[in-house]
Amino acid sequence: MASYYIWTVGCQMNQADSEQLAASLEMLGYQPTQEIDNADLIVLNSCVVRQSAENRVLGKLDSLKELKRLSPDTVVALAGCMVDSDIDRLKHRFPYVDLFLKPGQFNGLLELAKARAPKLSDSFTTSALSPTAFVTIIEGCDNFCSYCIVPYRRGREKSHPIAELRRQVESLVQRGVKEITLLGQNVDSYGHDLPDKPGLADLLQELNSIERLTRIRFLTSHPKDMSQKLIQAVASLEKVCEHISLPVQAGNDEILQAMGRGYTVQSYRELVEQIRCAIPTVALSTDVIVGFPGETEEQFQRTIELLSDLRFDTVHVAAYSVRPGTLAAKRLKDNVSLSEKRRRLQEVEELQGNIASEINARLLSHTLEVLVEGKKKGKWYGRTRTDKLVFFENDADCLGQLVSVEVKKTSPWALQGSLKPSIVKT
Ligand code: SAM
Ligand code: SF4
Repeated sequence: MASYYIWTVGCQMNQADSEQLAASLEMLGYQPTQEIDNADLIVLNSCVVRQSAENRVLGKLDSLKELKRLSPDTVVALAGCMVDSDIDRLKHRFPYVDLFLKPGQFNGLLELAKARAPKLSDSFTTSALSPTAFVTIIEGCDNFCSYCIVPYRRGREKSHPIAELRRQVESLVQRGVKEITLLGQNVDSYGHDLPDKPGLADLLQELNSIERLTRIRFLTSHPKDMSQKLIQAVASLEKVCEHISLPVQAGNDEILQAMGRGYTVQSYRELVEQIRCAIPTVALSTDVIVGFPGETEEQFQRTIELLSDLRFDTVHVAAYSVRPGTLAAKRLKDNVSLSEKRRRLQEVEELQGNIASEINARLLSHTLEVLVEGKKKGKWYGRTRTDKLVFFENDADCLGQLVSVEVKKTSPWALQGSLKPSIVKT
């Protein structure tokens, strides 16, 4: 049986692309393998959003050189954001790679896989699906934040029509999926390029009516584009989870302006207040960049102040990394030292560790609804509607079930609990 191996780094969009590719390869009769040495097809789905991610991809690519020399028939493909328009340069740099595929564009690989496909038997079935799935609703990004490479690699915004997305979600639900996460770099601008200009709220309303779908999530939201209609949709639609990912990036207006984000600290604070007022149980997560060009200690302290005031459930913090080709790389000097960036990063992480541990401690003894996603080191795990990771023990198979768990122990990153057996829904 022919096999494939997919290695993925980066954002949820990359994960979604990899899931889609895996499903297509399995339709062609390929099986997944964890052993890269034995795979017939190897795909590296790359990310270059920061230098650290790019370095990981380069390391992985390097490790394939010898493998390809020993088994030249193995197909090696490089996919994702490392693949820009200059394919000739990439071919020259990585001669042992057979195919270069731009983000989400797997046709070249699928055609080759089809030509070499194992004969499908009538009894062929694809491997079991997880109870959760990603669904990309809008490709690309039109925002061109000054530090970000994404619009250059993923192109302009392109929304998928509501009817097409409904069919896709219905088909996932038929195969056992209970929770979907709608993806886009900026989901709030969903639909502006479609003929009847629907919004994300309209899409949520449509998907909310799908029977046997239990939960709907979406990410990422852009603070400049989040509408009142969307906030009301999250507040009123029972399947839409109370979790919003709303990257702020910085707590100082001059830095926000230099980043090209299109909002002020004050308007961001007001937005958070409106969300919390309309959805009192909401969990909020955010992204922050420290050490943006020219960021002074004083300006950084405004980020610390914002995080202390708004008390997010989760903060993803990154040190600014120069991305060649972006506006910031062309116009601004990367003048905050690496050690200073690391210090700021640590300060954010320490602060957020304390905040998250206090927020989660309040959940002690509460009973939470958890959708079980899998098993790790003998414990079942899943997420609450507010995206908290919960672990519990149980002998019976709980995969894909909606269970109630009483929280017994908390930490900044996860909750431990015990199953309340009387309230298990399948
Ligand atoms: N579209 C989302 C938004 O508006 O924030 C996020 C997408 S971006 C791929 C994911 C995160 O990577 C960003 O929120 C930002 O914090 C981080 N990021 C992007 N470019 C970066 C850079 N040059 N240096 C450091 N972090 C960066
Ligand atoms: Fe990058 Fe900004 Fe687009 Fe997010 S909104 S993907 S940070 S350009």
